[in-house]
Amino acid sequence: MSVFKLPAWVIKEIDKRRRNFLWGKGTDRGTGIPLLAWDRVCLPKDLGGLGVMNLRMMNISLMLKWLWLLVAKPSSQWSTIVRLLISSRNNTAPLTWNTLGSFFWKDLLSLRHIFTIATTAKVEDGKKTLFWYANWGAGHQFFFSNSTKPLNPKLTVYKALSNPAEVSPRPWQFHIHLAFSLLHSSLIANSSDSVVWNWNSTGLFSVKSAYHSLVFAGKTRFAGHALWKVKVPPTIKIFSVLLFHNRILTQDALLKRNIPFEEGCALCKQNLLETADHLFCHCSFSVELWNRVRGFFPTQIPSILQDVQTVMVQAFDRHNSNCAIILTTIWALWLERNNRIFKREERGVNSILHWLLMQHSLFEKAC
Ligand SMILES: [Zn+2]
Repeated sequence: MSVFKLPAWVIKEIDKRRRNFLWGKGTDRGTGIPLLAWDRVCLPKDLGGLGVMNLRMMNISLMLKWLWLLVAKPSSQWSTIVRLLISSRNNTAPLTWNTLGSFFWKDLLSLRHIFTIATTAKVEDGKKTLFWYANWGAGHQFFFSNSTKPLNPKLTVYKALSNPAEVSPRPWQFHIHLAFSLLHSSLIANSSDSVVWNWNSTGLFSVKSAYHSLVFAGKTRFAGHALWKVKVPPTIKIFSVLLFHNRILTQDALLKRNIPFEEGCALCKQNLLETADHLFCHCSFSVELWNRVRGFFPTQIPSILQDVQTVMVQAFDRHNSNCAIILTTIWALWLERNNRIFKREERGVNSILHWLLMQHSLFEKAC
């Protein structure tokens, strides 16, 4: 995985097995029904996923390391051998490297655009940094599309500054003049150009920073990201994420999937279509339990249980310990509902309250 680009079918097969394992397909420990889209399952927890590794992104992140070694550590043994095989061995811009070669080399160079975005050329003497193709800072990148290839693609920053006539700017005249004025005063004669990794504060490549940036690209943070720090077991956290995304198998969800069920709320015995909002917020049984819990935690439990999402967002906005009692109460209601449906066992509000207070105290100490 760190050497070759995994073929799409390999990732598909591995994901199929991971998906079946997660949802318990073919076992007696789960329904086998995928409750969350796999793309979302593979998102980091901060983005509302379950933090399962995205194989493609990890594959790319691991492979970027080879490009980093070639560009940033040219004196390493591996880099020396590989650089002998490529034509433009002295520049730090993979965009200009010869793509002919082995599968490994082709796979590696297919990532060069990502690498170019992830790095900045630190111009010192300007002799290794290509003027047109390297990302050399101050936001000035002159990546030419195929239709507008420069006449002199191997032009270095040093040569461009020595002989500005070599630059035929066309559309970016203004930017080039600005960049020239920035660079003129900053070239350092006896110091070699280097490359800085943009995706962390150290400026050095790490697989973790690459993976993190690739999976976070363009996505907004999950409103309930604080959930993962709450002192409750992982089972309750995963259940809470599913509930937040409205992905638990209440009767309205079963109806959408054409799965047969016995209609009616198992908790209050009303003959209605069970929804998450009813089960956890509006059901008379649940309201009674919430009121009893509120007696022990008067400031932690919201006074109005409008709907599940609002309750959870309110919980996440507060202190972690408040969130823990809310999630534990929701979990207790879900277990009671399942026991009544699948095991035909019933407990009263007092018994559940006693159990959940014990659990909450245990989680506070153990999690
Ligand atoms: Zn009910």
